[in-house]
Amino acid sequence: MPGLADVLKRRIAEHGPITVADYMTAALADPEHGYYMRRDPFGRAGDFITAPEVSQMFGELIGLTCAEAWQAMGRPESFQLVELGPGRGTLMADALRAGKVVQGFNQAARVSLIEISPALRAKQKDALAGLAQHPPQWLDDFSKTPEGPLVVVANEFFDALPVRQFVNTRDGWRERLVTVGKTGEFGFGLSARPPTRDEAPRAPINAPLGSVFEVCPAAVALVAAIAGRLSRHSGQALIVDYGHDATALGDTLQAVKNHRYAKPLEGPGEADLTAHVDFQALKRAAGAAGAQVFGPIDQGRWLTALGIRVRADSLKKASLGRAREIDAALKRLIGGDAMGRLFKALALASPGMPKPPGFV
Ligand code: SAH
Repeated sequence: MPGLADVLKRRIAEHGPITVADYMTAALADPEHGYYMRRDPFGRAGDFITAPEVSQMFGELIGLTCAEAWQAMGRPESFQLVELGPGRGTLMADALRAGKVVQGFNQAARVSLIEISPALRAKQKDALAGLAQHPPQWLDDFSKTPEGPLVVVANEFFDALPVRQFVNTRDGWRERLVTVGKTGEFGFGLSARPPTRDEAPRAPINAPLGSVFEVCPAAVALVAAIAGRLSRHSGQALIVDYGHDATALGDTLQAVKNHRYAKPLEGPGEADLTAHVDFQALKRAAGAAGAQVFGPIDQGRWLTALGIRVRADSLKKASLGRAREIDAALKRLIGGDAMGRLFKALALASPGMPKPPGFV
């Protein structure tokens, strides 16, 4: 059976070079060969470790902020608790466990998991067994979430959405394309025509030659859809990811395999491919669609304000043998040289909702 590289090479030979976004979509989500479609990439034995896999504290604190949002919403009898790209289901499991302390929260929550990968859906099902009071539902797209009050969480989801890249050339901006070189390997090329205003909105005018400018239309559309819901129903959304809060230039497409950086154009479907999240673009889209916007705030500051140190202390007291492990996890989640600064939290809320906890 031909692998994804062969499939893409044939496609390029027949129809011409493809955009970076098309390449990323195929590499991650091709139904047959996509990176997420078959495997569980997380954990020590996998390719990378995400915050909920580092420690239960992450999901627990998020669960408590969700419960607080539900209370601020006026404790609706039922609401959609939505997670985008739940991975192994660890975050939602920890959130529901922690949410038990707020009476009525778990009873009201209708869990919707937005997940394309059948392999990960199965993992999530196992992780949530016995925790959700109503059977969770799996959807492949946020737009299918039932209308009504909602609380949304997304950790390391937006970085997996496909970006388009544009390069500043002597002739102006041109889209970066993936093509196949004379040696038969993938390489980058450029589009012949300039991008339209819609394709590359806000491309800087005075960027140095060779600069790369990225846009993520799928992220902007998704945030606009979430914010649109929040303008019609009460609720909140929490987006945690790594990225930048100022319009930045630079090629942030990166591949990770076995906890190491790999080449993005080598072995599509075999490594995780991500790009930094442009929080400014998300804020703009959310505000325009009628939601309040808070942050982004560095993950370290946010988790500290949520009381992660207190939680770590009580965990250590409860299991003395694990003190070192808990301290290491704490450092990893909030340390400026670990995930504390690169990762950021952004909250969206419906008009009238208070500022979510932690957004100091
Ligand atoms: N939130 C998890 C996993 C992050 S990895 C954690 O923090 O551990 C990204 C997740 O998003 C995976 O579950 C992946 O299968 C899913 N995913 C990626 N692209 C998607 C898409 N377009 N639609 C739905 N799910 C997607």
